[in-house]
Amino acid sequence: MEKAIASPKRTAELLKQYGLNAKKSLGQNFLMDTNILDKMIEAGKIDKSTTVIEIGPGIGALTEQLLYKAKEVFAFEIDQRFIPLLETELGDKGKLKVINQDILEVNLKDDLPEQVERLAVVANLPYYITTPIIMHLLDSGLPVDCFVLMMQKEVAQRMTAQPHSKAYGSLTIAIDLVCESEIAFTVPKTVFNPQPRVDSAVLVLKRRKELKVPVDSIESFEWIVRQCFTQRRKTLWNNLTQAFGKAEMVKVALQQALKEAQIPEQSRAEQLSIQEFARLYEAIRSKTDLRPLIKAQD
Ligand code: SAM
Repeated sequence: MEKAIASPKRTAELLKQYGLNAKKSLGQNFLMDTNILDKMIEAGKIDKSTTVIEIGPGIGALTEQLLYKAKEVFAFEIDQRFIPLLETELGDKGKLKVINQDILEVNLKDDLPEQVERLAVVANLPYYITTPIIMHLLDSGLPVDCFVLMMQKEVAQRMTAQPHSKAYGSLTIAIDLVCESEIAFTVPKTVFNPQPRVDSAVLVLKRRKELKVPVDSIESFEWIVRQCFTQRRKTLWNNLTQAFGKAEMVKVALQQALKEAQIPEQSRAEQLSIQEFARLYEAIRSKTDLRPLIKAQD
């Protein structure tokens, strides 16, 4: 049997054969270890009932292994140079659809079948846009059962952090609101070609059936959380008056909202649990002087 693409030898051969080199600007680091790919596929419980979305197949290291296990793979790749390679090396079994597009620009529903038995996202993400990709996937409205995502270790730590830690922030809360998350394992930088500067981790996300805390608008809730974290070292009071303004009636309403939510003005955002943020959001929203000042987008 021919060696897997995810090996130093085949990776070098394929890059040479197709006249390719890795583009740093597109976060291209190719994985060369099938053990890691097996562990990702196992973490996502990928089987013959699973339709997989892959982001950034590159030269197909992960795609090849997914094709052995999954029902079908829809692979979105921005770099047109990889398309002939993917189609020639992996396209012949009819289970792979390569879509040459920027994942952030596609309406995912347009490219996928209307009905699938089970949907999963498995990807070794381009690290320069990890967060926008995850947010785009979560906003897509697709019934994704499970996400298995390789990313920079620090980002995975931020997404799974606990209150009172340095890594805890608005990203942690945005993820926690909609998903259960867990770091499945970490990955040393030595298994990539070219080697990135940082180690990686594989994060598994499972969408919650209901939001972790009930909020009527995810966008508005996330906006308020982001305002609370604007300057981590400053108090909530400082950050909130910065965001809402310092007019007297605004200050009074903010004081009342914090009191109602039972949160001391002098606390810092990193001390608050998601439940406390939800209480704060509700209290702010209930104030007629504050509600119109909540901006859903930044
Ligand atoms: N899956 C391969 C592997 O594991 O070896 C390559 C992973 S590499 C870290 C990231 C891949 O994402 C590259 O192939 C890159 O071209 C692709 N990529 C970067 N930005 C993208 C975007 N906006 N949309 C789709 N693919 C993108």
